[in-house]
Amino acid sequence: MTSSEPEQNLESPEPEEAAPLRVAVIGSGPAGIYTADALTRQRRVPVRVDVLDRLYTPYGLVRHGVAPDHTKIKGVARTLRRVLEHPDVTFVGGVEFGSDLTRADLSRTHHAVVYATGAAVDRRMGIPGEDLPGSVAATDFVNWYCGHPDSELERFVLDAEEVAVVGAGNVALDVARILAKTAEELRHTDIPQPALDLLSRSRVRTVHVLARRGPLQARFTAPELRDLMGLPGVDVVVRPEQVDIDLADVGTDRPGFREVAKASRANLKLLREQAERAPRGRPRRIEFHFWTRPERIVGAEAVEGLRVEHTRLDERERLVGTGETSTLEVGMVLRSVGYAGVPLAGVPFDERGRTVPQQEGRVLDGGGGVVRGDYVAGWIKRGATGVIGTNKSDAAATARSLLADADVLRAGAPEPVGLVDVLSERGPTVGDYEGWLRIDEAEEALAAELDRGARVKLGGWEAYRKALGRG
Ligand code: NAP
Repeated sequence: MTSSEPEQNLESPEPEEAAPLRVAVIGSGPAGIYTADALTRQRRVPVRVDVLDRLYTPYGLVRHGVAPDHTKIKGVARTLRRVLEHPDVTFVGGVEFGSDLTRADLSRTHHAVVYATGAAVDRRMGIPGEDLPGSVAATDFVNWYCGHPDSELERFVLDAEEVAVVGAGNVALDVARILAKTAEELRHTDIPQPALDLLSRSRVRTVHVLARRGPLQARFTAPELRDLMGLPGVDVVVRPEQVDIDLADVGTDRPGFREVAKASRANLKLLREQAERAPRGRPRRIEFHFWTRPERIVGAEAVEGLRVEHTRLDERERLVGTGETSTLEVGMVLRSVGYAGVPLAGVPFDERGRTVPQQEGRVLDGGGGVVRGDYVAGWIKRGATGVIGTNKSDAAATARSLLADADVLRAGAPEPVGLVDVLSERGPTVGDYEGWLRIDEAEEALAAELDRGARVKLGGWEAYRKALGRG
């Protein structure tokens, strides 16, 4: 199969007579569910999709990545829910690919597998002191406030007055905002109660956000920046000299610069407005430090400070150190320098990009050949970039490739065995959509009991099993 192959018309009204193509999607985040949607939305190739997840709960980062106070973004779960309720889509929770179910098992049960497992771990900064207590990966912190069942709810100690958040992406802004908000401001969100209790005892007063490049190169976006600047109890400090940039001096001849410039200009405008506002002595502060990169986390037994080097771009726009250093006296460092994919058992993996090598969604082996029946979608395909909506077109592209291959995938394939039969041979405690609805109800009931918002995350495997009636 090559890229020159004609694309299938996904909206074609001509249904086929053949038995359905059975597809397993690994991962029930936006990429996985949008793939199931694109596969079942068309009628030319009959398809049945099983969406599998390691957790008993679907929606991936919509549930365990989007910050609790970003309720509007979380609303996308309503769209994703409709896909899981489609008659040709089945949600199977509590099944871990690689241990509960292998690729070999799936070749008995399905014609094709789409890996949509995202990017579950943090990238490393690669500096001394990174593993000291008090140096925390943003992924762990996000998992904690989002009530991911793997997160130990009691694990964070927020007893430092000053915290550094390294990175200038939207996750860094999420983390800074949650640290700067009061527990009362988060009370009506779905944040787990133990996390809310800990935040109510937090001693954090100043959050330093460190960007190794300048305001024009920051990866965060204007709506998230605006959120931060609108916090009533927080002084956001931007140094005027760091945002005093004449855009006329910035080249426009580079490809793609105009697009980048639009987002960057929006950020710069907001940062400039903020730089003009004098701090009002509010209880908490968020300070932006552009052109600042971490050099070493200082401390004997735990984080006592962060030594940084100041930076600039050289004439070829490469990041270089100026040799000028200083130390921020922080008691916690949150590393928010991007997410990375995790290799999947029996699936090719590109260690550099931390993604699965692919072409138009078809997995490629080490020699560049297509791995029959294997596809990818979302962050494990293209890296941890873009917003939730980006996954829709990404997943549709993968679905197009898969549907174009339908005849090849079915040719000579034995009659698929039922997934339930294979899983019952292995004996994991499988969850289903009804089980998720019970967890959903338990979270709404908990919110009512605690007199909080619409939902409070249960958090923890034990609480899930209890809600499923297996505890
Ligand atoms: P990101 O957007 O890739 O940002 C990572 C940041 O870390 C960049 O500023 C990068 O700087 C910096 N960085 C990388 N390595 C570093 C190092 N060794 N030392 C210091 N700084 C380093 O990643 P993210 O914030 O994790 O976000 C992931 C994706 O999720 C993004 O697409 C984001 O937009 C999305 N997201 C969206 C929302 C939302 O829409 N509300 C919320 C959260 C996440 P350089 O640019 O210099 O490499």
